[in-house]
Amino acid sequence: MPKQIGIPRAISYYNNYPFYYGFFKSLGIEVILSDKTTAKTINDGSKYVVSDTCLPVKVYVGHVVNLLNKGCNTIFIPSIQSTGYKINNCSKVRGLPEIIRNILPQNFTMIEPTLDKTENINLKDFCRQTANAFNINDEQKIKMAIDNGFKVYNSFTEMTRAGVSYKEALDNAINGKTVKKTIDIVKPISVAIMAHGYNLFDERISLNMIKKLEKMNVKVYTSLNVSFEDAIKSIDEIGEVQYWANEPELTGTAAYYLLNKKVDGIIALSAFGCGPDSLMADEIYYHCKERKVPFIHLTIDEHSGEAGFVTRIEAFIDMLLRKKRNAIIKRVDINRKSAAQVITINKEKVLTSSVK
Ligand code: SF4
Repeated sequence: MPKQIGIPRAISYYNNYPFYYGFFKSLGIEVILSDKTTAKTINDGSKYVVSDTCLPVKVYVGHVVNLLNKGCNTIFIPSIQSTGYKINNCSKVRGLPEIIRNILPQNFTMIEPTLDKTENINLKDFCRQTANAFNINDEQKIKMAIDNGFKVYNSFTEMTRAGVSYKEALDNAINGKTVKKTIDIVKPISVAIMAHGYNLFDERISLNMIKKLEKMNVKVYTSLNVSFEDAIKSIDEIGEVQYWANEPELTGTAAYYLLNKKVDGIIALSAFGCGPDSLMADEIYYHCKERKVPFIHLTIDEHSGEAGFVTRIEAFIDMLLRKKRNAIIKRVDINRKSAAQVITINKEKVLTSSVK
């Protein structure tokens, strides 16, 4: 077995790569990443699956094809079933090894560990299965690799919580560096995005949404800025119950910003045809409506055009700006009137002219 592993730059890569990187490096296994998503990646993946498969799975298949085309014949395709007791992933994420095995005709080795906390198969077991596939059985070595994985992962999350962008934090964490940023930069408008990391941080899938918003001078908050504990607490405080594994980064993130009244609007970004996302987006829509916080749900598939996408974002931000401006004007008017009343009672003449 060569000490080399290919990791598709899709699905669990976006949340877990810092851990995977530290873990494999510590075991002396070289990581080969698939190239960034392009139109070709999507086309290559789409060829192998039925058309109503969600975009992230088509992209995942395209990344596996990309690794095979690079000559990488050992590929990491984990089956992440549940991340807590009865906290499940969707059936496509759970069945990724089966999907890949049944649709790709090429011969290659799959490293397919299972994580299933409902069945008591925890992270240690997941890592042991992975290491054992490379004939690494030394428990001490595996433990050290897990610690090293967490070291890189914790450094990454510390930076993103502090406001460092996804890419910058990832590059620095895997190079053993730390950078600092201030998260609370004041901008005229701020929004929170609820989305899977694999949709939002893949610049081709999200059509570079974060950069587009930042160019419009909008402050963007994402799941990276919220701790796991705060996200879980917010799901509870808003009156929902966690069922899906990705709920902290979707419902949890939106709930956190709704409860903290920190944003002017919420944007949900999800793949067309995604069952779990439509449920989570609906829950948040209901809570936004109750609190009169504007909400927009954008869905993407392989045919999503950039122009239409930008128009919808621009219209939403424009509406947020007008809403905010109207609220400020209203407040100023009320303040002026109440000031007038106060002064009218005390010094009638002075007051009337000052208000005019
Ligand atoms: S959660 Fe939704 S987007 Fe993600 S793999 Fe499942 S169906 Fe696709």
